Amino acid sequence: MAAIVEHSKLALHGGKPVRTSPFPECNTIGAEEKRAVNEVMDTGVLSAYVGVWGDYFDGGPRVRQLEKEWAASCGSRHAVAFNSNTSGLFAACGALGVGPDDEVIVSPYTMSASAVAPLVYGATPVFADIDPDTYCLSPASIRERISPRTKAILAVDIFGHPAEWNEIRAIAKEHGLRTIEDAAQIPGGSYKGKAAGTLGDIGVFSLNYHKTIHCGEGGVAVTDDDDLALRLRMIRNHGEVVARAAGDERHHDIIGFNYRMTELQAAIANEQLKKLESLTALRIEHANTLRERWSKIPGLKPAHVQAECRHVFYVFATQYDESVMGVPRARFLEAVRAEGVPLVPAYVEPLYLQPLYQKRLSPALRNAAANVSYAKGSCPVTEDMHYQRLFYTPLVHAALSAQDMDDVARAVEKVADNVGQLA
Ligand SMILES: *Cc1c(COP(=O)(O)O)cnc(C)c1O
Repeated sequence: MAAIVEHSKLALHGGKPVRTSPFPECNTIGAEEKRAVNEVMDTGVLSAYVGVWGDYFDGGPRVRQLEKEWAASCGSRHAVAFNSNTSGLFAACGALGVGPDDEVIVSPYTMSASAVAPLVYGATPVFADIDPDTYCLSPASIRERISPRTKAILAVDIFGHPAEWNEIRAIAKEHGLRTIEDAAQIPGGSYKGKAAGTLGDIGVFSLNYHKTIHCGEGGVAVTDDDDLALRLRMIRNHGEVVARAAGDERHHDIIGFNYRMTELQAAIANEQLKKLESLTALRIEHANTLRERWSKIPGLKPAHVQAECRHVFYVFATQYDESVMGVPRARFLEAVRAEGVPLVPAYVEPLYLQPLYQKRLSPALRNAAANVSYAKGSCPVTEDMHYQRLFYTPLVHAALSAQDMDDVARAVEKVADNVGQLA
């Protein structure tokens, strides 16, 4: 009897924690990446771009190989490597001709770069609300935010689940809008038989350190459109200097940057891409353990997967219902943390509530149309998820074992079973 009581006594109150050792870190960099980097080092050519029209305008052999392999991996016509997803999103806005007086509909629940991309071209980000099941942009809310100034929709496949792309594309077609897919968190994912990244006019992946596969910093944009691919390449590498040589007057408006990925990054990324599928399969397996076990807990709604979608679980998000549990989210998570399992309350602050938007510290924000609002309450689902309901964990990565996953699942089960002790 005593043992059972001890087992169910929450660690927060001095009981035995479910987990006492730290979880393993995920390091996917191995001998293959080291060898690939050393081969580049031996050539001495760490980056091979030149700002002259010709072969090396598009970088060296490893960058070009990465683009070829990446395009093949998601069945797109073109891939263009960048030094980050952020650069890729900026270039996507430039390639599509986003400019002053335009509005771009964006998500408030994402990494900040996906909303800032229109701003750097003088366009106004207009926040639509998210869907409470997938946390991606809600098509109904997108419709409400369309105005005569709307130029594009920039939708994010957040946490590794694709947005509702058939509807987003239908809205775009109806209103003559362009679409950008922020695919930073979804390499290897899919939507109704189509690879993630290929669902908008341009899709952009991230290869930063935190993503499933990485090369330190990096990004890859994909598109099926020859003109857009050329514009992306021009924006990546000082395109104005090759405007005449590139041939087509429609591209004379390009202002280029240095958004170039080096040969070193590309060498690593080529090796990482080969590992993507096995790393992703493990994440999905781990996520399915949490989905199965936490869906049995009243008051929790673990990550949902829409029909015909492949969710790749960049992180594992769960919804918490205080009215069922009887204690606030923060109190519940504190108790789970005491059991040795750190879960993260909420994701990023809804972007429109950040000082940049609240104080309108950019011309495109000051000159926004009267109906564009960054007020608290303007995306109620996002705010409810952020302030009350959502928590997530990155503990679905490939370095974790089934035993580790059992601990993650069990810590939450234990606190939920004994939630009365938190009252
Ligand atoms: C990581 C991330 C970015 C930015 O990627 P970088 O490669 O670091 O520029 C953008 N959007 C989302 C949704 C991300 O997760």
